[in-house]
Amino acid sequence: MAAVTYDGAACPASPGESVRETLLRNGVPISNCCRADACQACLLRASAGTLPEQSQQGLKETLARQGYFLSCLCRPEGDLTIEPPGGLDMPATIASLERLSPTVLRARIRPTKDFAYRPGQFITLRRDDGLARSYSLANLPDEETLELHIRRAPRGRMSGWLFPGKPEQPLLLVGTGTGLAPVAGICKDAISHGHTGTIHIFHGALNPEGLYLQDELSSLARSPSKCNL
Ligand SMILES: Cc1cc2nc3c(=O)[nH]c(=O)nc-3n(C[C@H](O)[C@H](O)[C@H](O)COP(=O)(O)OP(=O)(O)OC[C@H]3O[C@@H](n4cnc5c(N)ncnc54)[C@H](O)[C@@H]3O)c2cc1C
Repeated sequence: MAAVTYDGAACPASPGESVRETLLRNGVPISNCCRADACQACLLRASAGTLPEQSQQGLKETLARQGYFLSCLCRPEGDLTIEPPGGLDMPATIASLERLSPTVLRARIRPTKDFAYRPGQFITLRRDDGLARSYSLANLPDEETLELHIRRAPRGRMSGWLFPGKPEQPLLLVGTGTGLAPVAGICKDAISHGHTGTIHIFHGALNPEGLYLQDELSSLARSPSKCNL
């Protein structure tokens, strides 16, 4: 039976299974994929071992030569040492999350450097802990951020993580003195993430001079976000 090693750890393989199935069964959170060579979301790189020809079908010659392969199509015939797909990764941050509907979120992702892509192409979003999911790009290549439309999958790990909290839940925020600082931060964060429930803020002080930020918070209260003071 073929021995599969991923990122230095042995992942026992069962007869006939694909590398993707082996890794998932051993708790390696690799990307969801089409399982049919169309999306290439499950791309990995082998640093040792022989890859079945089928596992590199449709890949660019440059990637195939570096040992990249599609883990969903790879049923290893001998031992295989696999590296995480970091060589093609690019660090990025979440610039904003905005609800387009109760079940669809617009995520804007800011990559650390420019990269060329075509409208309609997809990228694979990889969280710090390795969880990876693919999403189609909704914007034009000349924009600073990448726009993704993400549907909330029931109990989905990536989409559930990106959908913050319960937007319809009323919020009651209370602070005294400069304890208003975290209250204001939470309020603005909730509004910027598309919170739809009512937000009540109570600010207390020993005397009227201790009350501050009233204009700023009043303007939030006049916004369509239903923030009440
Ligand atoms: C090329 C490509 C492009 C894509 N583009 C988009 C896009 O533009 N927008 C988009 O929203 N999605 C897109 N997807 C899908 C996306 O990658 C994710 O699959 C999707 O967001 C769900 O991921 P998740 O981590 O939230 O859910 P997961 O955690 O993967 O779960 C998915 C569903 O399966 C269920 N589930 C998980 N494990 C089990 C189990 N053991 N038993 C029973 N049920 C289980 C969960 O409850 C959930 O409902 C694309 C996928 C591909 C391959």
